[in-house]
Amino acid sequence: MANDLMEKIISLCKRRGFVYPSSEIYGGFANIYDFGPLGSLLAKNIRDVWIKKMVQERNNMYLIDGSILMHPKAWEASGHTAAFTDPLIQCPLCKKRFRADKLEGWELEKDNQTGKWNVLNQGSLICPDCNGDLIPEVKEFNLLMTTSVGSVEGEKTKVYLKGESCQNIYLDFLPIRDTMGAKIPFGIAQIGKAFRNEITLGKFLFKVREFEQMDIEYFCSPEEAKKLYEEWKNIRFNWYIDTIGLSKDRLRWRQHSSQERIFYARDAWDIEYKFFDDFDELEGIHDRSDYDLKQQGKFSGKALDYFDPVSKTRFIPNIIECSGGLQRTFLAVLSESYQEEKVNNEKRVFLKIKPSLSPYKVAVFPLVANKDNLTEKAENVFNLLKPEFMTMWDNIGNIGKRYRRQDEIGTPWCITIDYQTLEDDTVTIRDRDTMEQQRIKIEEIIIWIKEQLHA
Ligand code: ATP
Repeated sequence: MANDLMEKIISLCKRRGFVYPSSEIYGGFANIYDFGPLGSLLAKNIRDVWIKKMVQERNNMYLIDGSILMHPKAWEASGHTAAFTDPLIQCPLCKKRFRADKLEGWELEKDNQTGKWNVLNQGSLICPDCNGDLIPEVKEFNLLMTTSVGSVEGEKTKVYLKGESCQNIYLDFLPIRDTMGAKIPFGIAQIGKAFRNEITLGKFLFKVREFEQMDIEYFCSPEEAKKLYEEWKNIRFNWYIDTIGLSKDRLRWRQHSSQERIFYARDAWDIEYKFFDDFDELEGIHDRSDYDLKQQGKFSGKALDYFDPVSKTRFIPNIIECSGGLQRTFLAVLSESYQEEKVNNEKRVFLKIKPSLSPYKVAVFPLVANKDNLTEKAENVFNLLKPEFMTMWDNIGNIGKRYRRQDEIGTPWCITIDYQTLEDDTVTIRDRDTMEQQRIKIEEIIIWIKEQLHA
């Protein structure tokens, strides 16, 4: 059933222009995907509501948009060059690679400073793919992707694509402190690309090699860290319910065990969502102590500290980190909103997405396509709405088919221009979820939709 749902979502994403495999004409590439026309709009709307709620509506939040390439020393300082590893095990027969910690019965422990993995308990040695015998040899595999910078061959510098998007937030702490007059506690927010050479992939957008992270690093005094950590846990959990529309019973908290938690973190919890059959991570919320700024300060030789004018003390700020994935939120929205029902003995598929996230807010149809006066009137309405909302035009096939097409892409309202419109300037507006229609005046459509979007 759950896999069935995933297959339906993958198929809908492709059929209706939400998601395409990257470089599909070459057979796709490395578990990387493109957002198509509909997917780009949904992803943009998710980014927009994240920025609105986390930056615009809050105090002391600074949005940045950092570069992908950074000084390679930053990745040494953060520990990624040494310790951003997964335990790799390869099947000698089919050559498939697996994460040993995800194989049945295996228990491993990572040394977070060296990136070495110690096997605590050796589990199954049967290859999940071809049933061949696995050799019980675990290798450390670094997930960072590399490229090189420079114009002279032989003098190029090896650099890393961001393994996590937030790293440059730590580096921008200093200029934000100095140029923005930022007073602690304050946060820096960023939505940016991350790249990981993941060993095991699958589950569509859930684990990909190129993705976006929506990150908040909140800088605070050591005394306030614990209280603010709890506050941010609540803010982020509720964002998924109130703003994204995920149901509470498909969300849960999972605390990292002491082995799993990075050595400098005081506490770490994941928000998990029941995507298909299992709960899986949607966002990590970590109380990271002062480690990040200390490390970057040590490697750069700059004092990444803060002088508190009230207590007249200087200290290295602590960081509360909230790191969520755009692709995983996108997938959660689709799996939460995908609906099927029988209408007049035919299957109706609709995406019950929150209107604020829907790619298109409204579609406009002339009742029939071959009547000039209806088409002209409908075009006037279409042109009226376009500057205000993402508006779709459709005059192909009968009205029932047009409604179904909009239902499948989650358009909340469809407007039909009919013969009565020509007489009294009213239109029908049909609701995606209830399929009910009402008549409203053309001059009231914009305000009506705006009211619904803010409801
Ligand atoms: P997981 O163990 O599930 O791979 P992680 O603990 O490595 O995730 P973090 O490093 O905490 O992930 O990254 C923060 C967020 O970035 C995750 O909660 C997730 O939403 C997103 N994310 C991480 N890796 C991927 C990936 N390969 N594909 C898509 N999103 C990802």
